[in-house]
Amino acid sequence: IVKLDQVYKSFGANQVLKGVSFEVAKGEMIAIIGASGSGKSTALRCIDRLEVIDQGSIEVCGIRVDSPTVDLKQLRLEVGIVFQSYNLFPHLTVEENILLALRHVKKLPRAEAHQVALRVLEQVGLQEKAAAYPEQLSGGQQQRVAIARSLAMSPKVMLFDEVTSALDPQLTGEVLRVMEDLAAGGMTMLLVTHEMAFAKRVADRIIYMHQGKVWEVGAGEMLDAPKTPELKAFLDNGL
Ligand code: ATP
Ligand code: MG
Repeated sequence: IVKLDQVYKSFGANQVLKGVSFEVAKGEMIAIIGASGSGKSTALRCIDRLEVIDQGSIEVCGIRVDSPTVDLKQLRLEVGIVFQSYNLFPHLTVEENILLALRHVKKLPRAEAHQVALRVLEQVGLQEKAAAYPEQLSGGQQQRVAIARSLAMSPKVMLFDEVTSALDPQLTGEVLRVMEDLAAGGMTMLLVTHEMAFAKRVADRIIYMHQGKVWEVGAGEMLDAPKTPELKAFLDNGL
C-alpha cells in the first residue's frame, strides 16, 4: 500500500536520502528508528509529498506521489500524518478542531460530521473532552486529539513522527496505547519512534535508518541481535 523505490532527496549539497527502498503492506505497522539526522522525518514527509523527491519513486494507495501531476487532495485523504507538535487551533474546541476538515475538505453535513467526531474521540478515549479547549488538556490528551482529527478523515495509511517525544513518560503511555489499539484494529501505520520497547512489541517490522539509507530491516528481535555495528552502537548509545 506504500512503496518507496530508490528514493533520493537532497537539501542543497546535503544528500539526506540515498536510495531508500521499503514497502508497507496493508494492515502492517512498521517502526522507523535511527539516529538524529538519519533522514527518518524526511522519508515520512516525502510519502505525504511535504517534500518532493529528486529521484526514485513513491507509490501510496495506487497514487504516484512523485508524479508532477499528483492529486495532492486525493493523496492527503488517503494519508494521515501526525507530528510531535499537535498544531491544534487554540481558539477552537476539541470537537471544532476535528470538524474543520470534515466540513471543509470532506464537505460532510454538520450532523454527519458530528457523528464522526464523536466516534474518533471515543477511539482515543476522549469523548468527554469534546467541548474543552486545547489549553485545558494535557499534552498527551492534545496529542490524542491530533490523532483523532487525522483518523476522522478515514485515511488508509497513518504516519506518525515522534508523536510522544515532547511528552512525559506517563503521558507517553496513553498515546502509545492509542497507537497500539489502532494497529490491533488493522490500520496501516508507519511510525518514527525512539520508544524501542514499544517498537519491538507492537511493530510487525522495524526499519533502522543510518545516514540516509535503510541499514537493517527485521522483526522486533533484530533489536536483540543487531547484525551491523551501526545498529548495535545506536542501541547501546542512542548514537
Ligand atoms: P531526528 O531524529 O533529529 O528527527 P531525522 O532522522 O528525522 O532526525 P531529518 O529531519 O530527516 O532527520 O533530517 C535529515 C537531514 O536533513 C538533517 O541533516 C537536516 O538538517 C536536513 N533537513 C531536513 N529538512 C530540511 C529542510 N527542510 N531544509 C534543509 N535541510 C533539511
Ligand atoms: Mg525527525
